[in-house]
Amino acid sequence: MLDSGMLASGSYVKEYERRFSRFIGTKFGVATSSGTSALHVALLSLGIGRGDEVITTPFSFIATSNAILYCQARPVFADIDLDTFNISPLKIERALKAHPKAKALLIAHIFGLPCQMDEISKLVRRHRLKLIEDCAQATGAEWDGGKVGTFGDVAIFSFYATKNMITGEGGMVLTNDKKVEQRSRALINHGRSSRFIHATLGYNYRTTNIAASIGICQLRKIDRLNARRERNARYFSKRLFGIKGVVLPCKPETSKHVFHLYTLKVKGKRNQLIRHLAEEGIESASIYPIPIHKQPLYKRLGYGSLKLPKAEAAAREVVSIPVHPSLKESDLQKIVEAIRKWTLKRR
Ligand SMILES: *Cc1c(COP(=O)(O)O)cnc(C)c1O
Repeated sequence: MLDSGMLASGSYVKEYERRFSRFIGTKFGVATSSGTSALHVALLSLGIGRGDEVITTPFSFIATSNAILYCQARPVFADIDLDTFNISPLKIERALKAHPKAKALLIAHIFGLPCQMDEISKLVRRHRLKLIEDCAQATGAEWDGGKVGTFGDVAIFSFYATKNMITGEGGMVLTNDKKVEQRSRALINHGRSSRFIHATLGYNYRTTNIAASIGICQLRKIDRLNARRERNARYFSKRLFGIKGVVLPCKPETSKHVFHLYTLKVKGKRNQLIRHLAEEGIESASIYPIPIHKQPLYKRLGYGSLKLPKAEAAAREVVSIPVHPSLKESDLQKIVEAIRKWTLKRR
């Protein structure tokens, strides 16, 4: 790629789009500069605009909900299930009762665990909603044998440096709908319909051949990388099982969890555990410590008095420990021992 001299968008991007969409199982892929720009374009290409209501999760990276704001549409938050950290189908149903005109549902498969796609698909059909899947944390995750990213009208992925598959910065819009693909392609390139013709308002959300060539190589490894994350997670789940006051991540039978993060719930002394692990040389974090509706921006937008008790409880209790593919068995051992030591100290 470097020898070709074509560093910006070109043939490597095309090849990456083809391979990645084939890997997930959709007809089309449009590579973007980031997961965030992919979200923006995905919503716009479904026709989401000023004043439209979009139901979404309060417990995600802020980009999920901010993309709705970019379209001058309004996020409607439905609370999560505390077991899965994912948006609750029951709460979506309740949100639809209060907001019957909602146009779309934007779900995020949080930490690598697929949402409850059976119930969500039923709701989407019954209420004729557009479904957008935020798969930024769930490349390769499966629900009932189908990869996430294949269940909605459009899906987005992120290849940011901390995700399961990485190109530094980068993202992708996936769809089976030719119109969504064409609109997305125009939107990422200043609304260009052909050379020198700009039919609509667009952006520069293109990615580069540099990122795409990294992506093509990453794609060869992603199954192996995810398998290592799953192996690390199994190690933790076996050895941390039964420790009082520590709740392990759930693993439903119908899904393949790709463990973007391995997230424990600890009531009360969560921050003490994070400090203890830091003293032992282990980096852990509460992700996310503030649900989206409690962020200063969203408080100013009028969401401050909204009560979403499960998302708020998750924000208080979560702690993610390292689970990435380059951990060695000795690292895993050290992490388990440090957590055990903390539980003894705590008594
Ligand atoms: C990372 C992430 C994004 C945004 O992706 P970027 O590539 O960082 O712009 C969106 N949604 C979720 C759930 C994410 O984790």
